[in-house]
Amino acid sequence: MMFRQSAGMTSARDARVLFSLAGIVGVIVFVIDALTPLDIAIAVLYVVVVLLVASTGLRHATVATACACAALTVIAFLMSHDENYSGGSIARGIVSLLAIGTTSFLALRNQANTVRLQEQIQLLNLTHDAIVAYDMSDRITFWNQGAEELYGWKADQAIGQRIHELTRTSSSIPLDALRDEVVRKGRWEGELERVRSDGSTVIVSSRFALWRDDKGKPRAILATNNDITMRKRMEAELQRQQEDLRAIIDAIPGMVWSSSRDGELSYINRRWNELGITLTGGSGDVWTSIVHPDDWPAMHAAWRGAIATGKPFENVARIRQSNGSYRWMHIGADPLRDQNGQILRWYGVNTDIEERKQAEQALERSEAFLSDAQRLSRTGSIATRLPAGEMWWSDEVYRIFEYAPDYTPGIELVLARTHPDDIALVREAYESALSGAPYIDNEHRLQMPDGRIKYVHYVAHLAVPRSDSIEYVGALMDVTERQLAQDALDRSTAELAHVTRVTMLGELAASIAHEVTQPLAAIVTAGDAATRWLNRAKPDLGEVGQSINQMVRDAKRASDVIRQIRSMAQKRDPSQAVLDLNGIVRESIELVRRELDAARVELEACYAEPPPLVCGDRVQLQQVVINLVMNGVQAMTGMTGRARRMRIATSVVDGHHGQVAIEDSGTGISEENVGRLFNAFFTTKADGMGMGLSICRSIVEAHGGRIWAESEEGQGATMQFVLPIDKGTCDEQ
Ligand code: ADP
Repeated sequence: MMFRQSAGMTSARDARVLFSLAGIVGVIVFVIDALTPLDIAIAVLYVVVVLLVASTGLRHATVATACACAALTVIAFLMSHDENYSGGSIARGIVSLLAIGTTSFLALRNQANTVRLQEQIQLLNLTHDAIVAYDMSDRITFWNQGAEELYGWKADQAIGQRIHELTRTSSSIPLDALRDEVVRKGRWEGELERVRSDGSTVIVSSRFALWRDDKGKPRAILATNNDITMRKRMEAELQRQQEDLRAIIDAIPGMVWSSSRDGELSYINRRWNELGITLTGGSGDVWTSIVHPDDWPAMHAAWRGAIATGKPFENVARIRQSNGSYRWMHIGADPLRDQNGQILRWYGVNTDIEERKQAEQALERSEAFLSDAQRLSRTGSIATRLPAGEMWWSDEVYRIFEYAPDYTPGIELVLARTHPDDIALVREAYESALSGAPYIDNEHRLQMPDGRIKYVHYVAHLAVPRSDSIEYVGALMDVTERQLAQDALDRSTAELAHVTRVTMLGELAASIAHEVTQPLAAIVTAGDAATRWLNRAKPDLGEVGQSINQMVRDAKRASDVIRQIRSMAQKRDPSQAVLDLNGIVRESIELVRRELDAARVELEACYAEPPPLVCGDRVQLQQVVINLVMNGVQAMTGMTGRARRMRIATSVVDGHHGQVAIEDSGTGISEENVGRLFNAFFTTKADGMGMGLSICRSIVEAHGGRIWAESEEGQGATMQFVLPIDKGTCDEQ
């Protein structure tokens, strides 16, 4: 069967022409039949009229025409035979009528067939597919509406053209091979690229079917085509997006994976391949081969739990690297669900957290170190953000304050533990922090609820000055033990100083006796003299007065000496006063005068003018000078063949310090000993205690000064100390 698409019905214009032609032919036939003596079956020609009308495809018109032609045949017969009907003419009339009838019948049947065919063609037009039929020389014989829409050519433009030339068909296989295959197999299916009438390219999915005639000869090919250009483009776009996505997933610095709903690995990204892992050998034991054996049981249990409950999976485990080492990774996965909530698959990523883990461990270690160090050193850390007053305390701070760790730190808690007498001190420090002081240094006492006293030393510096707040970072040291030890040390130093003083007093007893005896003797002498002056017949009251004045002076001197001795022997706390260094030296020399004389020491004293004023305890400083002088005397006593000279000088050095230097010409001090003279119990004397210089150092340092020795062995020694000059800040007591 060959299709040739027709317009279905003739056009109105064509119909009019056909009707006119039919009318003319009908009139001519009637005129000849009715009015001419021609005795032939001219009426047979009415079939031409019927066929012309029938070719319009109009059924009713055809029937009407057939009836009219039959009627005209009868009328013409009656008109032309004047009641003389011969047998031949009747037969001719009947033949004509039969011819008209038969022709009309066939024409009507043909019309019915044509209509059916038209309907079938219309049906083919209903499909969205482009249906094209072409013969074996590729000439198009059928071109439906779908083809018009797809390729852009109308049917009448396309029919008769060679399909592959018209549409510039290109295919993955040569067109000849394609045709051979259609002929061989009777059908073909595939994708073709064609060019539309507007020059644009279209990709079609084509199905070819071969039609053979009764003899089996290939006659035509019917092709149905679908436009898949969009689909192809989308496929290409999808492909590109997938490649993009894969590239992105491969670039993720983590091991990306997906698994089936029951946990079987189905996809892994390139990072896995870098670890030498592929899924080709099945995914069953991939995890067991890469997860550290110690971490696997917990991870496996967690993974099974996630699969069972559908909850997101999270785990931390060590994953083996290609070099065999392990790195800590965070393994997380989320399920993908369908619209019913059923899990379709899992998507996961393993993120390398080795560095974080190491940093965490380092932090934990250093926190442990710090906390140990804080506990051992009894030092806690305090950060304070001001003005809000937020505080952070380390554990040791809680221990020092003796608060439970759940307390929220704050200045109120600090004040609640501060000794009532030191609260003002702490508040003051807090105020100065509020005003942004760069450095806070505060020593104060705490009082625990049970009455125990603690000593703390708080130091802090301004760490983070911000626009809206300032932060201090500081340390709180529990110095109770140090303070108690210091107190004990101070006490024992004082005790010792007292003991040495008393010991020294014993040694000085003779000198003291002399000092006191001498003014007493002078008083006696003066008293005698006064008595004599009075006992004269004419008492000389002037002389008496002089003697009494002398007696008063001597008595004062004696009482001074006694006062000094008493104060040296007294056990009392040191007192602070502004002292003239020259006076201290003078008084000390007086006290050891006898020793100096007994040892036949030539003493030279040089005093600075104006006298250097220092702040301190008179008796203690005298003790230092006496000690140094006595040591010098002792260093010179065993020495012969050289003058025993001692030079004591006071001076002001660097404008801020008063200095006392006691230089002797004794044995001197060896280089080895010069560094340890001031150590307690260091002595080179058989009966020495080795405490004198140690006490001197404590006293001088407690006065904010420094003491040292200079010596060249065999050339004598110079012992000297400096004290800060009083700047008017000394509290007189
Ligand atoms: P002690 O007098 O009981 O030995 P000190 O502490 O006063 O104790 O003196 C310690 C030591 O320092 C003495 O034994 C002595 O060896 C040395 N020393 C002190 N002063 C002098 C000095 N001026 N010349 C030489 N040696 C001295």
